Amino acid sequence: MLTDAGAGVVCLLDVDNTLLDNDAFSAALDGRLTQALGDRGRARYRALYEAVRAERGYADYLEPLQRMRRDFEHDPDLLRMSTFLLDFPFDQLVYPGALQAMKSLAGQGCTSVILSDGDIVFQPHKIQRSGLWDAVQGRVLVTVHKERMLDAVKEAWPARHYILVDDKPRLLAAVKAAWGGAVTTVFVRQGHYARGAEGTLVQPAPDRVIDRIAELARLDLGETGTPAPLATRV
Ligand SMILES: [Mg+2]
Repeated sequence: MLTDAGAGVVCLLDVDNTLLDNDAFSAALDGRLTQALGDRGRARYRALYEAVRAERGYADYLEPLQRMRRDFEHDPDLLRMSTFLLDFPFDQLVYPGALQAMKSLAGQGCTSVILSDGDIVFQPHKIQRSGLWDAVQGRVLVTVHKERMLDAVKEAWPARHYILVDDKPRLLAAVKAAWGGAVTTVFVRQGHYARGAEGTLVQPAPDRVIDRIAELARLDLGETGTPAPLATRV
């Protein structure tokens, strides 16, 4: 994939709990599972979900349903979960100000690219349904472990400087350790991963910390096209 971003700044944006409220989706899913399959069905799904995530390293919402077939083969409610997942209105979960923040960066010459970990079917579907796919004009990478795909990211989206925006401090630290001054890491304190990381010391610390993705709009790229120094933290 060739791009024109080689001389510019590329902003790598995570999806879940960074651009959209995936915790809200997860809560809605739990509610629907309980309604359709009862507490036993919801507990079974979540046990399989955790097992799959441990195996694969990313959230997979479809595979647990596949693995539940034997237990719920004759239950049409299991089949209706398919519609719930595929028709879910993810556009309603995009955080306020997320799209405007991308526009603000674009106005400063920064190219937004979505960099998301996930499965290869539902995660791209979610990104499309949310409208985020179109918002970045299809500049989307869905990986298994993004921190292990840094060379591929650089190849696909060459840039003079990167901004990495994510709700997982450990991931930001891993990329900062690998890329050093070539990346500005931005920790968005949204969602359960961010809350779970409160009080833990992660090194290297994120370059910027924001409480809402909307605050990314205030990131000043300055005349050089790279973020202003830490003295003017967002
Ligand atoms: Mg995330």
